[in-house]
Amino acid sequence: MRRAIFPGSFDPITLGHTEIVLRGKALFDEIIVAVGVNSAKKYFFSLEERINMLEACFSEHPNIKVDYYTGLTIEFAREKEASFILRGLRNPQDLTYEQPIELINKHMAPELEVVHLLSSPKTAMISSTIVREVIKYKGHVRGLLPDEIIDYVHDIKYA
Ligand code: ADP
Repeated sequence: MRRAIFPGSFDPITLGHTEIVLRGKALFDEIIVAVGVNSAKKYFFSLEERINMLEACFSEHPNIKVDYYTGLTIEFAREKEASFILRGLRNPQDLTYEQPIELINKHMAPELEVVHLLSSPKTAMISSTIVREVIKYKGHVRGLLPDEIIDYVHDIKYA
């Protein structure tokens, strides 16, 4: 079984993330979309809210699972018997950020391969950081967030 994990903060999940996961379905038998929890980091959405949003996005896809982990991404991948880490790249800055992390991961877990997919021009400008600003100021999130979570975000942040 070709299993990949797709790790991230997903604070919140955006159309950029869903595009990468759905394209990844052509490459892997199973993808585990996993929220990496860093106890020192402050998030906009709680872990429970982020997981609820991921589940809403992928409930129709039996080979996409949702999970979370603390600690090292490579340890989580090993625990889940995944051989691949899926990551999205929007621009050269993403690669600059990713490369040192990936080199360290390769040093620690040479058996794991990272597979990058370039985002499409439609989603390359979307980041969770910008979406959070839009939400804070009650802007339009349609076209930035998956339709499945728009009402949920409105209910918890705009109510
Ligand atoms: P992290 O905290 O690991 O950066 P994110 O939730 O921001 O977590 O991102 C998780 C993964 O999704 C990363 O590989 C990131 O590059 C990718 N990603 C984020 N936004 C987009 C986008 N708009 N298009 C493609 N990939 C994206």
